Amino acid sequence: MGKITLLSGEMAHVDCLSCAITSGQIEPNGGVVVETDYFHAHQDVAYPIKGLVILASKRHIHGFDELKEHEKMDYINLLTTIRKAQREVLGIEYVYYFYNEDTTHHFHTWMVPRYEWMNGFGRSVESLRPILLHARHKLNDEENDKEVKEAIALLRESIKKRSL
Ligand SMILES: [Zn+2]
Repeated sequence: MGKITLLSGEMAHVDCLSCAITSGQIEPNGGVVVETDYFHAHQDVAYPIKGLVILASKRHIHGFDELKEHEKMDYINLLTTIRKAQREVLGIEYVYYFYNEDTTHHFHTWMVPRYEWMNGFGRSVESLRPILLHARHKLNDEENDKEVKEAIALLRESIKKRSL
């Protein structure tokens, strides 16, 4: 059983955070961005960065090579759809993608928007951890929370419209 600290400061005890979120056991901040039979996209529960999206598989797998054909198609379609929405409704020019297979959770890809303020933490992969920690410790306030939730709502609406 793993322990996870949620943004609210609450501790969640779950075997796999990705399973808990994709099954609806834990409600991510702002709700679901988009959901299909195989994937679930949501805001991270610990790092409040506007427009950050996590795309998690519904199956409890760890490796990229475990994806089945229909999941691969769904994955790339969702990634590109979410990316497009980030650009169109949030004006996000660059996104950092991050995914590691030795996670304690299961298969999920981080889509981290790159904002001006992040330049102060350097560039490329080494800047990610300081940025996430900064968000967790310095941006965890009501005003930012509101922005994060509004961004999620905008993304969700934009993606819904596209798929109609
Ligand atoms: Zn899982």
